Amino acid sequence: MTDELPELPDVVQLPRDDLSAAEVGAIAAAILEAAVDAIIVISPIGAILAANEATVRLFGWEREQMLGRNITMLMPEPFRSEHDGYLAAYLATGEAHIIGLGREVEAQRADGSVFPMFLSVSEVKTGSQHLFTGIIHDLTERNRQRDALEAANQELERRVAERTRELDESLAELRRSNRDLDQFASVASHDLKTPLRNVRQALELLEEHLTEGLGVVFDDEANELRQFTTDAASRMEDLIDGLLAYARVQGASTDESVDLGDVLAGVVAAVHLDLEELDARLDVAELPRVRGSTVQLRQLFYNLIGNAIRYRSPERPLHISIESDTVDGRALLTVRDNGIGIDSAHHHRIFELFRRVQASAEGGVGLGLAICQRVVETHGGEIRVESEPDKGAAFIFDLTLIDSG
Ligand code: ADP
Repeated sequence: MTDELPELPDVVQLPRDDLSAAEVGAIAAAILEAAVDAIIVISPIGAILAANEATVRLFGWEREQMLGRNITMLMPEPFRSEHDGYLAAYLATGEAHIIGLGREVEAQRADGSVFPMFLSVSEVKTGSQHLFTGIIHDLTERNRQRDALEAANQELERRVAERTRELDESLAELRRSNRDLDQFASVASHDLKTPLRNVRQALELLEEHLTEGLGVVFDDEANELRQFTTDAASRMEDLIDGLLAYARVQGASTDESVDLGDVLAGVVAAVHLDLEELDARLDVAELPRVRGSTVQLRQLFYNLIGNAIRYRSPERPLHISIESDTVDGRALLTVRDNGIGIDSAHHHRIFELFRRVQASAEGGVGLGLAICQRVVETHGGEIRVESEPDKGAAFIFDLTLIDSG
């Protein structure tokens, strides 16, 4: 085997020198016959002079039925009526509409059915002969595919529009029910607090009446019951406050320019006595300015630092650090502690309403992190936890940075 390719001629030519005129004619006729497209030759007045096999196949007429008849037999109206005039006009003025150009028109089969075709017409002048040749390419399949594609596209657009409308409706519904819920929570919280206050006051008065008025001395059991009632009432108060805080998150505007350094300073001032008492260390990085609600962001840091204190380890002095970073143009904040940590099985659940994993002796009703999540999400961010048991916990969230430069 040789790996050299044979040299190919630039243009493939029939070896005409070796062929007689009759043979060349026969080859040309065979090519016409074998063509996939219909090829028809007509005279200047439109009489069909020749038609290949594909014409027979495409139109359903026998060749003998077509030869000598007007080409308009292959056209539906209005092309049929216009054609003679068109040919005459062309011969008189030389102004072509199809000749030499080709365009998409309709054709009619023997059974009367109409199909789309691409017609290219050329004018042939040889000696005394003046002829027109039409090549007809059936567009039925192409159009079917185009129509199917268009129909599929329209269906897709219809479905997208429908889905979008459904989503818009659900969103509006969700907003409505969120608003209703917030309103309910807010009203319920206010209204629940009043009877609770009354119960507390009545208890205090009852105790006063018993001890000071009637001279009753409380035994251990009575003291325990009194403590139990007071604890239950303050727990109820915490719950109501939590619910109210949760409900309020949604309503606040998150469009202020907030200096997180100032926010942190306010939170630290509120907890510094606790930190001092615990001999805790607090490291705060330089914090950025973000877009949001001062009140909500204070609540966020207050809850996270409060949890760090509440879930500290008894085995080591508490260390809290507030870290700041910029990722993808957003402020990424971390509140990290060295406390008791959280098992990874609970990581996704601790942000749920009223979800408590490790009940603390220092109160908490399982709303703190739910509020944190709501605050961060209302600010367009996300919050997550990284933690292992006894390895501390890090709460990481992102906020919209305000470019100081
Ligand atoms: P609460 O503190 O009132 O129970 P939270 O929503 O603030 O409610 O927290 C939910 C649970 O997540 C807590 O019960 C606790 O088990 C866990 N948790 C929250 N913060 C920390 C933390 N810094 N370290 C360890 N566990 C935590």
